Amino acid sequence: MEKAQRGFAVMDPTKRAEIASKGGKAAHAAGTAHRFTKEEAALAGKKGGLAPHATRGGPPGYVTCECGKKNSKRSKFCGQCGKSLIPE
Ligand SMILES: [Zn+2]
Repeated sequence: MEKAQRGFAVMDPTKRAEIASKGGKAAHAAGTAHRFTKEEAALAGKKGGLAPHATRGGPPGYVTCECGKKNSKRSKFCGQCGKSLIPE
């Protein structure tokens, strides 16, 4: 087989321009896609960073147990009496 470079050079100018145009379009599309992805990632990162933060830093997450002990909302059991804090 001949070398690809040689084949490309031998090709007629119209076809070469076509391929070059394709290559340019492809590169441009890739660049746009990359930028879009970056923006999307930034947006997603913002959203992801805000959502849990709001939950954590929002209203005090306390659950008062029957025994009167205040437990973190994230706790499943009372730290004092060990009762389940999840309403059934
Ligand atoms: Zn308790």
